[in-house]
Amino acid sequence: MKQVTDYFGCLVFDDKVMKSKLSSDIYKKLKKTINEGKELDISVANSVALAMKDWAIENGATHYTHWFQPMTGVTAEKHDSFISPEADGTIIMEFKGKELIKGEPDASSFPSGGLRATCEARGYTAWDPTSYAFIKDKVLCIPTAFCSYGGQALDKKTPLLRSMQALNKQALRVLKLFGHSDVITVKTTVGPEQEYFLVDKEMYNKRKDLIYTGRTLFGKMAPKGQELEDHYFGVIKPRVQAFMNDLNEELWKLGILAKTEHNEVAPAQHELAPIFATTNIAADHNQITMELMQKIAKKHDLVCLLHEKPFKGVNGSGKHNNWSMSTNTGINLLEPGDTPSENAQFLLFLVSVIKAVDDYQDLLRISVASAGNDFRLGANEAPPAIISIFVGSELEAVLESIETGKPLKADGKSFLKIGADVLPELPKDSTDRNRTSPFAFTGNKFEFRALGSSESISCANIILNTAVAESLKQFADKLENSKDFKNDLHELIKKTIIDHKRIIFNGNGYDEAWVVEASKRGLLNLKSTPEALPYYLHDKNVKLFTSHGIYTTDEIHARYEIAQEHYTKVVNIEALTVLDMASKDILPAISKYSKELADTISAKKVLGVDYSYEFDILTKLSDGLKKAYEIKLTLEASLAKAKDISAIEKLSMFYKEEILTKMEALRDVVDNLEGLVDKKAWPYPSYGDLLYSVN
Ligand code: ADP
Ligand code: MG
Repeated sequence: MKQVTDYFGCLVFDDKVMKSKLSSDIYKKLKKTINEGKELDISVANSVALAMKDWAIENGATHYTHWFQPMTGVTAEKHDSFISPEADGTIIMEFKGKELIKGEPDASSFPSGGLRATCEARGYTAWDPTSYAFIKDKVLCIPTAFCSYGGQALDKKTPLLRSMQALNKQALRVLKLFGHSDVITVKTTVGPEQEYFLVDKEMYNKRKDLIYTGRTLFGKMAPKGQELEDHYFGVIKPRVQAFMNDLNEELWKLGILAKTEHNEVAPAQHELAPIFATTNIAADHNQITMELMQKIAKKHDLVCLLHEKPFKGVNGSGKHNNWSMSTNTGINLLEPGDTPSENAQFLLFLVSVIKAVDDYQDLLRISVASAGNDFRLGANEAPPAIISIFVGSELEAVLESIETGKPLKADGKSFLKIGADVLPELPKDSTDRNRTSPFAFTGNKFEFRALGSSESISCANIILNTAVAESLKQFADKLENSKDFKNDLHELIKKTIIDHKRIIFNGNGYDEAWVVEASKRGLLNLKSTPEALPYYLHDKNVKLFTSHGIYTTDEIHARYEIAQEHYTKVVNIEALTVLDMASKDILPAISKYSKELADTISAKKVLGVDYSYEFDILTKLSDGLKKAYEIKLTLEASLAKAKDISAIEKLSMFYKEEILTKMEALRDVVDNLEGLVDKKAWPYPSYGDLLYSVN
């Protein structure tokens, strides 16, 4: 039997391969580029390209591609073969340094938010040497950033890399104050836990809503949902296990550290978690994971649904973004240390995150905002739309003691002087003690739990990195001029706790009382994407992005527009699908079944037998059909009205308030009728079929 250790990473041009394929001089130069961001000269790039090509061909590749992440949220690739003709009519396999470093795809069909006039269609992709090249379906994939010709970011990787650089810069300043001159880089790390649903392909193919929108737009709940809590961590069914085994194998070949797999809360829902990696690699790996989940599911006659809310009435899917910061010397900056100085440093980094989350709650909320995720956030299954931080009672006691100067323990003696005392033992929370918090400290990392399952993790991490970079910048600005470091450090931490403790909430985030309390504290509660997005353009946020070199003002406006437009397009497609299903399948099916009942009633009348059952159902169906038809007409009218709204903020709000509301009203009526109609007469597989047919 093949062993995982033998094939792990076999499709990755990783450090081991580099070492064996490159001369030691070239290897060293490449490593400098990877670790320290030093520029790579073309002769080195040529050598790397040659080695990469030879390795790729040995492993069955025929093509290469610059693999990138445009604003569509999915990855993009255009394949070029290695072949190059010779004068004698034969071919050689060729790949040059300049093809490795830079590509020039036509950018005109990717969302640019007005950054790039269609006439200047060229864009370019630039190699990200910090994320290893890999082979997928016989194609050598080179992770790249994607920019317009003017250098404006058109993708999600460019700002993510910029945000990592910003954090690196500020964290190094802070670390220097603690005497860490040996640290060369600070990188953020992420372990994203990915939730998903699996449904039978045959059932899926019969549902237009799943095909066009990824979620069910109609469907009466099955008699059984998740109320028995018997699916979470339950025995994995053989078909699902076979899928997971295949998936793990393919992920491992690509060097992705797939670690944990289990059934989730909803029926047919599952989760996969990898071991954490540097953020941009984690982001790349998460994109590949989502792609492979969908591809491998098909091989098993399954379909993997990554939508945030595929089924009404059971939990939707999210992504937990476990996040921390680490030095190249191996220190996790969110890990409490053993000495007073380590503890002081930990506390400063800790409060830098608390401050960042409070100052930029709006941006964090926006970073997880999407039409799909709007069905989860605040819906008593996922964290609320209010951003707050859970720190646990032990750490809260520490923060309180620093803030008030009161003793940490009841003994009246245990004061906590920063830089002089050691923190009490903090428990590592590996058990999700508070699953209702959107942002939880779990012992040595924070877990941002509000991400949607289908979205790239880049957006959330761009904001997180940048906001924390800003806190650290302010701290460094203050402390670098300090005459009495220990004392000023204590005061700074204390002041930060006082200023930002409103964001700390250890209670139940699902509780109605929290909504009231949060509002009293002045925390934002941005319930939907159209409500959240306008905050993107607020002065403080524009300043944050521009001052740290994450986005130019133009790039911010472009991204804002893309997000607004994306929202309206998604809801528009859903509305059109609702109309299509209602007009062509559902209403005709009800009408036809009504005729069957009417025929039976006529026959029974002639025979003089009781027809009250048929009559009762027929009456309900007729009433419902009339109601459904009326709502359908008003939905059509609203869609026509939407065409006349040009202001993007107004339009997205209109889609949320008018279109989504009417879609939901129509669904209510139809779902009710589904319960009255003969199963054979209903045009679609039921929720029971979808949620329980994979065994
Ligand atoms: P749980 O599964 O209970 O949420 P785990 O400790 O198993 O808790 O961690 C969950 C995720 O957090 C995993 O992907 C893990 O690799 C990741 N993780 C652990 N340490 C870090 C860290 N320092 N930075 C980022 N992610 C981390
Ligand atoms: Mg978790």
